Amino acid sequence: MTDRKGANSLSPETLAAQALGWEDESTGAVVPPVQFATTFTRRDDYGPRDNVYIRPDCPTAAHAEALLCALEGADAALSFGSGMAACTAAFHALQAGDHVVCARTVYHGVIAWLEHFAEARGISYSFFPNNDLAALKAAMQPGKTKLVWIETPANPMWSVIDIAQAARIAHDGGAALGVDSTCATPVLTRPLELGADLVCHAATKYLAGHSDVLAGMLACREKSPLWERIVAHRKFAGPMLGAMEAYLLIRGMRTLYLRVERQCENAIKLAQFLKDHPKVETVRYPGLQDDPGHAVAAAQMQGGFGGMLSFQPRGGKEEAIKLVLACRLLKPATSLGGVESLIEHRKTSEHGIVTETPDNLIRVSAGIERADDLIADLNQALSVL
Ligand SMILES: *Cc1c(COP(=O)(O)O)cnc(C)c1O
Repeated sequence: MTDRKGANSLSPETLAAQALGWEDESTGAVVPPVQFATTFTRRDDYGPRDNVYIRPDCPTAAHAEALLCALEGADAALSFGSGMAACTAAFHALQAGDHVVCARTVYHGVIAWLEHFAEARGISYSFFPNNDLAALKAAMQPGKTKLVWIETPANPMWSVIDIAQAARIAHDGGAALGVDSTCATPVLTRPLELGADLVCHAATKYLAGHSDVLAGMLACREKSPLWERIVAHRKFAGPMLGAMEAYLLIRGMRTLYLRVERQCENAIKLAQFLKDHPKVETVRYPGLQDDPGHAVAAAQMQGGFGGMLSFQPRGGKEEAIKLVLACRLLKPATSLGGVESLIEHRKTSEHGIVTETPDNLIRVSAGIERADDLIADLNQALSVL
């Protein structure tokens, strides 16, 4: 879409701020409305309009999808009722006999889905360590592997994967590459431009950004047969985003760039503070010079390294939980990407799924507060150890 004068070279920031420059033709309203109708009349010749029934064609969701296309440089996008619904739509589109290669450290729900449902659907899967693309290559079963699934930076250690290289390996083996880019956001990384075929967002997190919407989005570089099966999955299994959530999602996306910019600034300040603290063993944040993912992140991410970081205080699980509970400003809650900073003992949130998360790992989602306030709070919380 273009602005009202037809300019067509607008930046994603501008398109996001104006929700694609939308204006209501009859009233001039500058806010895209929520359309709650579940059904839409046919035309006088009984032909269908763009919208017939809300499950496949919710106009408010379509607006959010068009906006994501602009931000990701995508050919098409779909919204879902949750981030998990969006991630797993890609797996639902596979067929019996297909093989998936998945990075070992990805959102724990994705691993849980594979463990619960893949075998029954005749889908086999292998894992590779996030920091080992040779292992990804070795795990490919050409002709059988149809999907490679990665997340970068990856929950909760923030390991970084070179998307362009992963795409080459996936394509050489005849598979599509799907990237869960929830934590990078389109502000910092555009995976489709680096060769990924699918990009996924738990829109619950940064895209919506206010910890009050459950939503997911999936976008594609081009409309492949795999994408058409994803479209069919959403249409016929029905994991659609509700109209009100779509409205709130658009509202959130309009401030995405500002929020992420501030969250990146806060995250690096917190990471630097924690790194120098005597009671902290390790900090994981790709923005730190000595982080194992720093070089790839610096090349692949623009404008910052994300709002997520993790650290391990001295001690074990007990000390980590004590520290989390000693925070007064950072809220002891799971999830991420909201305007308020959150802190959690990660392993507790993983519901016993086997992951590589250390027992004393604490995950922080930096909000948009003043960094000094956040640092002071972490400082007083560390003093209880
Ligand atoms: C939260 C999250 C999900 C799942 O999203 P929901 O909206 O909770 O279903 C998937 N991937 C990542 C990286 C997440 O952080």
